[in-house]
Amino acid sequence: GFKKRAAAMLVITALLIAVSVLIVHMITSAGYRDESSFASYAADYFRNNDMEQSVGRGEQEIRYGKTASTAISLPVLKTGVSNKVIRRASGAEKTMFLEKYRNSRSGGRRACMLTDYSTFNTPYSAVGVVILTKYESTDAGGRNMGVRGTHVTAYNFSTQTGIDVRKERIFKGDYAEAERGLVERALRKKYGSDLKDGWRDKTDPDTFAGKFVLTNTGVRYYFDNASVISSGRDNGVAWCEIKYRDLKGYLRDDIGVCRIDTTKKMVALTFDDGPSRYTGRILDILKKYHAEATFFELGINIDRMPGSGRLLKRELAQDCEIGTHSYSHLYLTSVKRSRALADIEKSRETIKKATGCEPTLFRPPGGVITQDLENSIDLPCILWSVDSRDWANRNVKKTMRNVMAGGDLDGRVVLLHSIYPSTVEAIDKMIPALQKKGYQFVTVSDMIEYRYKDEIVSNKIYGNKYFTFSGKDR
Ligand code: ZN
Repeated sequence: GFKKRAAAMLVITALLIAVSVLIVHMITSAGYRDESSFASYAADYFRNNDMEQSVGRGEQEIRYGKTASTAISLPVLKTGVSNKVIRRASGAEKTMFLEKYRNSRSGGRRACMLTDYSTFNTPYSAVGVVILTKYESTDAGGRNMGVRGTHVTAYNFSTQTGIDVRKERIFKGDYAEAERGLVERALRKKYGSDLKDGWRDKTDPDTFAGKFVLTNTGVRYYFDNASVISSGRDNGVAWCEIKYRDLKGYLRDDIGVCRIDTTKKMVALTFDDGPSRYTGRILDILKKYHAEATFFELGINIDRMPGSGRLLKRELAQDCEIGTHSYSHLYLTSVKRSRALADIEKSRETIKKATGCEPTLFRPPGGVITQDLENSIDLPCILWSVDSRDWANRNVKKTMRNVMAGGDLDGRVVLLHSIYPSTVEAIDKMIPALQKKGYQFVTVSDMIEYRYKDEIVSNKIYGNKYFTFSGKDR
């Protein structure tokens, strides 16, 4: 009867599924044995990976090794800076991988790293790039190749400058909660019960674990390394796309647009020791004159001052840059090395918690640093080339005169503090006076990139000498 036939169908279907799962399993666990089979293993991976590649061309490098093999496919974009950034990050991943397996002594164990990418055209002056790396290895017996982890790196490169556009220059306003709601709904819809327990922690704006790229149609969010789904599905990489129309009001319309006139003189104002009750007024003045600046904030002030988070977010929203000035204003060379490093680390976490973004620069209290210490701090160290001495004179005229007396200020970094009312008054006069002389006010990172045409490197001390030249010298 009908029941019997239905039962038979069910058994046949189950068998078919079992057989196909077995075949798929055999294919995936067969892995590779030698150089030529690794080449075809990698080729199969790239072919079946279903990445979207709509910008630039590609470049592949396949290296077989007895214990560790790599197959890396990367995009080649029109902007050299972008290619450099992609290759440096990928190179670091590869080095770490090779080191890990070079040192693994378990007999017969093999591993491979497979890197592939997607590129997206966008309606903005930006290209989205996703680099997906999958790590596979055999068990100790040298059999059964399986996925051990996945890692996504996402970039949104300006097509004008090649520089990876920061999140604050893509989103605007109070987007974080709205973004979270949309991402959660999209993940729930796509993955349903496949979502892991605790997956919502990863979309918390304070510790947001997603990486995002702009595409032709929306913002695509990635969650790698089985952070929201198990590695059994899609190798543990979950993604969802929020359409641009749903993010209306939260996206800037000048994404990727270079705001700096590289033919004009540039000066970088820097404010140390904040946030304070004067920070808001400094931001008002900067806004009034469409000027940007860099704030070197103290972790302890962020923790102690009510509303500090809002101030720091405002700094970013006004295209200013945030660096750390340590947590408790320790003179780093006067304390134990471990204490100095812990203090910096704590300040970084405090800023990340307040803004959702890591500080991009570091200025040591008192300007005291050694190269040895700097080597252990993974942030560029920024000193200055014009000292306003605002901390000593606390006088509007003197502060202003000390800056203006610097003569040619093109390429210079000015030391100021955000804790004196005299400084606030001084910049209200200084900024328009310098603008009249043809200066534009940029952040320190923009100064290094656009004035000095340099790539910013961590572990480097940028001192008085670096920030001093008359435009014609270069
Ligand atoms: Zn200081």
